[in-house]
Amino acid sequence: MSARRTATLREPAHSPAVTRRLLRRLEAQHPSAFTELIYRNPYELLAATMLSAQCTDERVNQVTPRLFARYPTPAALAAATPEALEPQIQPTGFYRAKSRSLVGMARALVEHHNGEVPPDLDALVQLPGVGRKTANVVLGHALGVPGLPVDRHVLRVANRLGIASSADPVVVERQLGAALPKARWVVASDTLILHGRRICKPRPLCDRCRARSQCRYITDGGGISPARGGSRTQRQAGRKRAR
Ligand code: SF4
Repeated sequence: MSARRTATLREPAHSPAVTRRLLRRLEAQHPSAFTELIYRNPYELLAATMLSAQCTDERVNQVTPRLFARYPTPAALAAATPEALEPQIQPTGFYRAKSRSLVGMARALVEHHNGEVPPDLDALVQLPGVGRKTANVVLGHALGVPGLPVDRHVLRVANRLGIASSADPVVVERQLGAALPKARWVVASDTLILHGRRICKPRPLCDRCRARSQCRYITDGGGISPARGGSRTQRQAGRKRAR
């Protein structure tokens, strides 16, 4: 068995009960954890999440009010051309690819889903430019369907804590999802993301962390942290699947 496959199959160091306890502590530390993207409906969150790739939520929030005023529905966006969209989203970076994805996403919604965002993971990931992480963000925050988005912050924090053990976002999503009730998936993801942004950064501020007494990064260096270990191939595969 390859080293990558062996790593992917490792079980988390902590039991589901400890996982739930550690997440409760972090939820208490970050009681306001929620997506920082501003949106009014599933379509707007889908577009905003697509724009947030390689960009801060703050910058996306500066661009989207004007964008959604001009294209308030999937049908309106579907009628646009990527070239017309480019200058409006340029501040978010990678604007040519994002313009193509946004218009393609809108056209697919109109063509296959009556202009609505489908509340279904498999249908969402069929949309142009929509990966599993983006689909889970929209499901969990705007459609009332349990979703557990795994981004680079969730990957790093969960592996350091020992509540997950893989550089592959899909595996980490499965491991966390198995340890938590579905009703807690969204808040768990939001909490880990905020913890990763504020405390468990690439250079972690462990003295400010409420989970430190049972964190494997401290107690025995357990877990596979994409920030510390894993092969380049693992990390590249992880980033691709986290989109
Ligand atoms: S103790 Fe340190 S490494 Fe562990 S989760 Fe907290 S901040 Fe991250």
